[in-house]
Amino acid sequence: MKPARMRPIAALWEWQTSAACRGLESARFFSPSGERGNARAERERSARELCAGCIVREECARFAVESGEQHGVWGGVSRERATRR
Ligand code: SF4
Repeated sequence: MKPARMRPIAALWEWQTSAACRGLESARFFSPSGERGNARAERERSARELCAGCIVREECARFAVESGEQHGVWGGVSRERATRR
């Protein structure tokens, strides 16, 4: 497979049409600035629960790593993405 930067733009996003989170509020996946503790843990738990049943989980997690996404839960993964780079 070609590196992401060499593929047509539409191919980079096509997996999102099958996303379990399609149409949901992004706030489920992104903590507001300053959110910590139980509130943040609960937000991430809720996001990971949805991601666990998503058929494009791997594509989503890979996209987040390749694009250097710093925030939010992608593919059931959040802060631990830093170890995948
Ligand atoms: S893995 Fe999670 S964040 Fe990624 S597309 Fe699926 S539901 Fe959305």
